[in-house]
Amino acid sequence: MKAIRVHAFGDPEVLRLEEVPTPRPGPGEVLVRIHAIGVNPVETYIRAGTYARLPALPYTPGNDCAGVVEQVGPDVNEFKPGDRVYTGGSLAGSTYAEFTLCKTAQVHPLPENVSFAQGAAMGTPYATAYRGLIQRADARPGEIVLVHGASGGVGTAAVQLARARGLRVFGTAGTDEGRNLVREQGAHEMFDHSAPDHFEQIMKATSGRGVDVIVELLANVNLAKDLTILAKGGRVAIIGSRGRAEIDPRDAMQRDVDLRGMVLPNTPPAELASIHAALVAGLENGTLRPVIGKEFPLAEAAQAHRAVMKPGAIGKIVLVIGK
Ligand code: NAP
Repeated sequence: MKAIRVHAFGDPEVLRLEEVPTPRPGPGEVLVRIHAIGVNPVETYIRAGTYARLPALPYTPGNDCAGVVEQVGPDVNEFKPGDRVYTGGSLAGSTYAEFTLCKTAQVHPLPENVSFAQGAAMGTPYATAYRGLIQRADARPGEIVLVHGASGGVGTAAVQLARARGLRVFGTAGTDEGRNLVREQGAHEMFDHSAPDHFEQIMKATSGRGVDVIVELLANVNLAKDLTILAKGGRVAIIGSRGRAEIDPRDAMQRDVDLRGMVLPNTPPAELASIHAALVAGLENGTLRPVIGKEFPLAEAAQAHRAVMKPGAIGKIVLVIGK
């Protein structure tokens, strides 16, 4: 099969398309023929060699994909060849390829009304948005949530989840196109995170009360000011950060604020299973509709890595097999 291989950490050009053996499923394993692959920012940090946990070289990148079950291991009853599925994780973290091997718990049914490209947006972005918004920040119907960075893969997912749950949803994006897109996903009010006064505008939109929950996608830039626009008992789900932040702890003290960090791999298996049960239900009932911004062929993984780190996000970036 064809797969992207990385032999040395570095620039996007280290992503090379090569021929490798197709894996075979053992007990409890499922082999998925991939149609579309989700490209996540973390895969660029790993490729560059700057992430905390790095794979042994050479490796094939990727966690998320959607496709069709090709073959199942001897004792697998949950899936059969031909089933449409999406994955969240794979055995060797290796979805930039024509096939990937998964444990059954990493495979989830993909409803007929959802495209493979949309399925490739589920494993990391939607699961992260659910984990941050609902399991970590405990967002409840009737509360106000600010999705700080709402135009990308995780942000659009958080907006759809929050709206379906009955929250009042504020979002931010850096471009008009991004703000329009997020409004279409259900945000009640949009702000421009590149405008220094957007924190004041958000406070004004709550009549000075503050927001109950912030889903934070760039904490190093925003965390200090986030603490000044929370209501009493407010929670921040810290999902993304690309550097250090200095905060005034008194801002947190005065509002009884909770800072709740998360990384998806820390999610206990039972809670992860519950996340995917909720996500599949959301796909089936149409409240979750992943937005695909750009598609690249597998051979252009380097271009996809450059695109995912550029400002002006419009939903999810995916690699498509056979494009
Ligand atoms: P993405 O699709 O590339 O989106 C990035 C988002 O960040 C866009 O909405 C972008 O908005 C926004 N942004 C840019 N400047 C911002 C600012 N000053 N304030 C707030 N937001 C800003 O990436 P993603 O997949 O959604 O991931 C977002 C972040 O979460 C990344 O840092 C990623 O590594 C992290 N993440 C963490 C986990 C975890 O387990 N903790 C899981 C998945 C992702 P514009 O482009 O419109 O400016």
